[in-house]
Parts: sequence; structure tokens; C-alpha cells
Amino acid sequence: MIPQNQNRRAPSADEIIALLNGVCQPLAAARTPLHEAAGRVLREPVCAPEDQPPFDRSAMDGFAIRLDDANLEFKIVDEIRAGDWKPRELQAGEAVQISTGGALPGDGLQVVMKENVRVAGKILTVVERDSNRCIRFRGEDARAGQVLVESGTTLTPGALALLASIGHAKPMVTRLPRVLHLATGNEIVPPEQTPLTGQIRDSNSVLVRAFLRHWQITPQQKRVPEDEAAAKSEISNLKSEVDLLLVSGGASVGEHDFTRRLLEHFGFEILVCKTALRPGRPLIVARRGNQIAFGLPGNPLAHFVCLNLFVRVTLGKFSGWAAENIFQPGTLAAKLESGRNARETFWPARSEMKSGEMKLTPLRWSSSGDLTALALANSLIRVKAESSGLAAGAVVEFVPTI
Ligand code: AMP
Ligand code: MG
Repeated sequence: MIPQNQNRRAPSADEIIALLNGVCQPLAAARTPLHEAAGRVLREPVCAPEDQPPFDRSAMDGFAIRLDDANLEFKIVDEIRAGDWKPRELQAGEAVQISTGGALPGDGLQVVMKENVRVAGKILTVVERDSNRCIRFRGEDARAGQVLVESGTTLTPGALALLASIGHAKPMVTRLPRVLHLATGNEIVPPEQTPLTGQIRDSNSVLVRAFLRHWQITPQQKRVPEDEAAAKSEISNLKSEVDLLLVSGGASVGEHDFTRRLLEHFGFEILVCKTALRPGRPLIVARRGNQIAFGLPGNPLAHFVCLNLFVRVTLGKFSGWAAENIFQPGTLAAKLESGRNARETFWPARSEMKSGEMKLTPLRWSSSGDLTALALANSLIRVKAESSGLAAGAVVEFVPTI
């Protein structure tokens, strides 16, 4: 835990990330249908239950003949389509028409592709024959018992296709986190409503929802008035337990900022109550057992930064990833103009691969409430504390954002 003594300096982004990597534990795993498992972390090794492919299959549309048969003319004695199982001993001078994927009727055969033969009724003439047997042999992809997907793998569409092909239809994956998001503030109105003077539209709720979709999480969301008692009863009325509680706004030290008191009331231990980064200074991180709560700064750009740095690390750990370095190296495509600042800054930017290098174009932002950069932003550049601007071509660290 980072001590909360007022005289201690506020923790840096790296310190908060290290703290989260230390306290967050992977959630339990559960058997899940394949169509719900994309992007989830596999929590068991999966082995091939039998040889892959499980039987010799034709790689081509063509004709199966004996490998040791030197004839050029054959009698077509049967047809095998994909899905058929028609074992038989082929004699010299006999051929079986076979489709791609069809099970070979026996051993010691070769498939001559359709393009290399002439057919007249039941008579087949081989025009061209080479040493390619055109067979996908049993076990050539993998042997029974071989590990095909390691525990800890994030299931991509391709990995899911592999699981489907071996009949592993309900893999053990990390369960999805249950997330509750409360947007606080008397000034916020839904986006479809026209705000009165003094009011603003709630942009954080849609940001949070879209951000969580990346992890296939659908949060429970509520707008709550700036009223501590009302917010308390909102939380106590919620039946389901949550793994992650996100409270937008009220994380600062204003008279009406009650997030800290709210979390303490519900037995959360406050781990962080202020940070040394910009935007995103007012941030609360708290925990109760394996539950994590964030009091996120209401300002939308600060919200974006805290989600992409800290909530992301939490969700990564919850899902069962090893602690990852979320920062990547890149090069500035243009000058980053900023005044000197005592705090480390996370600067919205657009990253693009150009000639094999990740190039970052810093975007304009005027304050932590300025959302305009987010139309293009896909990255946050880390600008060290006390730095006053960076030249084009400077090597920087950045976080790709969601
Ligand atoms: P707070 O963190 O509650 O002090 O809010 C800081 C700033 O963020 C204030 O200007 C709020 O109006 C603004 N804000 C708070 N919640 C939201 C929200 N859900 N959407 C957009 N702006 C917000
Ligand atoms: Mg507020």
C-alpha cells in the first residue's frame, strides 16, 4: 500500500501500476461456450484428444490408386465424398474417385489430382503422375495428447477455431468481471438531453461502457446525484457483488466530493487518493478483499487517461494475464510543445506505423476537460515530469489506448 500521509508525495503512474499488479488477483475460471470465449484467457492446457487429422484424408479432388500401381489406365470402382467412410482394398488397375477431405479407403494409396487425368465413362487415364501423394496423413498436424493451446493463452478467433476442431467446446476461461459504474454530479444530464446553462452532458458513462466492451464486460451503470446519502443507498440497494466499482467524479477534495467517504463507508481500504500525473491528479484507488474500486476524476480527458492506465492494468490482472509492460517505444512525428510541468503528463496522440517505426503525432488539448483530441487519439505519450517540450524525432514511451 502507498501511505496516505499528506506530507508524502503523491504516487507516480509507475507506482500505481506496480501497486495494482501486486494487489489484483485473477478471477475464478469457469467453463464457457466457444462463442462467448473470444478474448478471454484460457486457464487450462488443452491437448489433442486424438491424432490430428484423425484419419488419412485426400488433399485434392481426384482419384485414389495404389501407390505401387504402374498402370496408366484404371477402372473407376467407387466414389468417396467428404464425410463417407468406405474402407476397401484397391486392386491394381482400380481407382476410386475421391473429394477433397474424403477419407482414404485404405493404406498405401496415392491421390492423382483431377487436373492430371482424363475420364471417359468408368475409364480413367492418368496423364501426369508425380510423387506427391496428395494425402493429409493422420497425425501430421498433431499427435494425440500433445498440448495444442497452453494455459494463459488469450483466445483469439484462430485459437477458438482450433478448440472447435478438436471438440473442446467449453474451455475453462477466466470469468468476466462484474463492474458497477456510478457517474456522480448534479450537473450531468444524459447525452440525448439538452443541458440547461450550468449543466453538461454525461460523456464519461459512454466512455466507460465502450472501454469495458473491449473486455466483453457490460457494466451496471447509474447516474447518482451529488448526495452522499443517496449514493450510499444506491450502492446498498444493489444486489449483486461486484469485482470492480468505478465512481466517476467526486474524487477530489471539494466539499461535495464524497467518493472517498463512500468507499470507506463500504469498508474499502484507500490505497491511493491523489496522483502525480496530469491529467488525472484526483484519483482514488481502494480495495476490499479482491474487489477494487476507483474514484475516477470527473474531467473527461483525465477519465480517459485513468481508464487506459489503471483500470486497464486491473482488468488485465483480473483476466489472468501476467503483469505486462503497457508502455511501448515510439518516435515523435512532430514537436511536442508543452510548458514545463512538475507532473508526469500523459499526452493524447495519434500513433501510426511508418517505414517500420511507430510514429506519434501529439494532439492539441487545452485542459483535462478537453475531449476534442479524443476524436483521433489512439495513444498516450508519456512526457516526463519537469520536461518542457520534446523535439520531433525524440524517442518516447507511449500506451496504445482503447
Ligand atoms: P469532479 O471530479 O466531480 O470534481 O468533476 C470534475 C469535472 O468533470 C467537472 O467539471 C464536472 O462537471 C466534470 N464531469 C464530472 N462528471 C462528468 C461526466 N460524467 N461527464 C462529463 N464531465 C463530467
Ligand atoms: Mg462532481
